[in-house]
Amino acid sequence: MPSVTAGGPRLLLRRLREIMAEPSSAQTRLDKLVVLIASIMVAEVCSIYLRRAGNALELFATEGLNRSAVHNTRMRQGEGLVGLVAETAEPVNLSDAPSDPRFAYRPETGEDPYKSFLGVPVVRGGQVYGVLTVQNRAARQYDEEEVEALQTVAMVLAEVVAQGGLFDIAELDEPELRADLPRAFRGDGLSDGVAVGFVVLHEPRVKVERMIADDMAAELQRLDTALGELRGAVDVMLESSELDLTGESREVIEAYSLFARDQGWQLKLRDAVKSGLTAEAAVERVADELRLRVTKSGDAFLRERLHDFEDLARRLQRHLGGETTPQDLPRNAVLVARSMGPAELLDYGRDRLQALVLEDAATTSHVAIVARAMGLPLVGNVRGVVDNARGADQIVVDGETGDVQLRPMPDVIASFEARRSLRQQRVAQMAAVRDLPAITKDGVHIRLMMNAGLLLDIPQLQESGADGIGLFRTELQFMIGETMPRLADQVEFYRRIIEDVGDKPVVFRTLDLGGDKILPYGRWEREENPALGWRAIRIALDRPALLRYQIRALLTASEGRVLRILLPMITDVAEFNAARALVDRELERARLLQLPQPRQTLVGAMLEVPALMFMLPQILRSADFVSIGSNDLFQFVFAVDRTNTRVAKRYDPLNPAGLTLIRQIVRSAADAGGDVSLCGEMAGKPLEAMALIGLGLRTLSMQPANIGPVKTMIRSVDTRELSEFLEKLCGRTDHSLRTRLTAYAAERGIAVK
Ligand code: PEP
Ligand code: MG
Repeated sequence: MPSVTAGGPRLLLRRLREIMAEPSSAQTRLDKLVVLIASIMVAEVCSIYLRRAGNALELFATEGLNRSAVHNTRMRQGEGLVGLVAETAEPVNLSDAPSDPRFAYRPETGEDPYKSFLGVPVVRGGQVYGVLTVQNRAARQYDEEEVEALQTVAMVLAEVVAQGGLFDIAELDEPELRADLPRAFRGDGLSDGVAVGFVVLHEPRVKVERMIADDMAAELQRLDTALGELRGAVDVMLESSELDLTGESREVIEAYSLFARDQGWQLKLRDAVKSGLTAEAAVERVADELRLRVTKSGDAFLRERLHDFEDLARRLQRHLGGETTPQDLPRNAVLVARSMGPAELLDYGRDRLQALVLEDAATTSHVAIVARAMGLPLVGNVRGVVDNARGADQIVVDGETGDVQLRPMPDVIASFEARRSLRQQRVAQMAAVRDLPAITKDGVHIRLMMNAGLLLDIPQLQESGADGIGLFRTELQFMIGETMPRLADQVEFYRRIIEDVGDKPVVFRTLDLGGDKILPYGRWEREENPALGWRAIRIALDRPALLRYQIRALLTASEGRVLRILLPMITDVAEFNAARALVDRELERARLLQLPQPRQTLVGAMLEVPALMFMLPQILRSADFVSIGSNDLFQFVFAVDRTNTRVAKRYDPLNPAGLTLIRQIVRSAADAGGDVSLCGEMAGKPLEAMALIGLGLRTLSMQPANIGPVKTMIRSVDTRELSEFLEKLCGRTDHSLRTRLTAYAAERGIAVK
């Protein structure tokens, strides 16, 4: 039975190093490598496939297959078992490969006699460079040790490829790279502001010169020393950050410093060194493994942890190399990166930085929280920007719309400059309307509330002139921490919000978890349809302790005031009543124990599930108020996944069905004498808000930046005329009523831009 020969992995690495050190061509080294691996792994075949332009995988070297196939056999991405390894970036280990449906037979290779197959990806920096395989005649499953050994070799192989000489590595990116042409991207605006500047590629990758260790004990010592230095440096950074980090941004950095002490991470690093790698190569390997695992899981929260660990890994690499100062920035720098940890951003400082563009970042990303605290424009989720950008390229960034343009034409720059001054004007205009009432021409008062989720958002209440917080998404606070906030922490957090908000009302929505909002702690099962799955109130009722603790904290923090609680994703009245009973139980407990309590407790339901629309009169007998969550409601009504860019904008809420639906809700609530408002994204768009007011809504909650423009619109409409117009629109059959509404506004000089 074949298996790695005794002392195999170590021997393999030692021999590998000798081959790597030879002054021969890269191809010769590959040819020797396959012979070596085949003999040490006791395999009849060993082959190396490398990725070429267009993602084809070309056979570059083989021991055991027909030599004539070298440089002739090419597999498409995803084709055959080799393609499968490249596509999934996972090992494939089969005892009877030819009977596997994914096996693609290539007669020119002469591989028919070989039954067992083990293929591992050749990965570096999260990119698959190729596939390394071994095959045996006998049907057998390769054991864990063999898989591990082949993966270690693949890592060394990745370095050989990266060092070049085999082919021009740049060709892998060729189809994408049109170096001189302008390129436009659209990502998510995560931190507001417009910037015009020059690309600085955040190239934190430290080139690993030495992969295989000469002396394991010495490497372990180097690793420990560097880890110690790293921890010290992170603490110093935490203490001496020029930015006055408070609230969430401080928590984020504190969580980061905990990661620097993570035992699991340190253990993995040590194990990698013990397998024969240098400390630098071990850091690289552990980071690569983590990156692949996280990418495969597609989990947004693991991804956030990954950014922190990658940030730490790069820092650790620098300590190992004895270099600890970050890159110097030119003036007007716009940092472009695949991802970035919060501490890396702090390292750069605010002085010379104009903006940040990331391929991977979301609203609750740690780096986004820190960027907002620094007042730095940030666009996240910008696919492909790193491969297309070169250092010193000109770039323009709009942190509100998510627009990014590389190498823009002069008129695009001019338009961004104009946007920048428009934004400044808008800020001035917002300040001008801030203290004016939101009253229509015919004297109807509209309540304009703002949405929030972090302490960082609260100052915007004053700046925007909002009447209060119509939706406080409490889950965001739970999502940025490393552990579940304790009761005392929750009390403290809610108390600070209530105090900062002062006399204005705040509507606290209880945890709206599940779907794509997963906590970084605790165990979560992946679901086929998370939007329709175990989320929000469903979790709360199945795990009542979580909700009861949150209510307990809210009751204490609201001492002597009016507490407004909003329950997310309510589907029927019984569900609402069950949750309300938990609130009543907590109130009773507070009374019995003579604990602090609010003066009054109001409990509302979010209307996000269409079924609840048909129970509106009934729910309004149980609930003190109802808030329409139009983001979810329309996703369910139109049957479009709100996160799927392919369909998310396919149907316009401003179509006859969307408008009729809102009209129905408003009428039904009015008949029942209930209070209904809307807090989804559509409330913040002046044209949509105009339609909502025409349909009878009088309270809207939105992003604070939208309050000024919506208020300006409100001050120039007449609700009587508008509602007649909307009534007519409901009877039409247009795909979208946007054009008609825009024309209505233009004819009357109503600002809806
Ligand atoms: C909504 O669904 O409209 C809403 C406000 O909630 P969220 O966007 O947090 O799901
Ligand atoms: Mg929702």
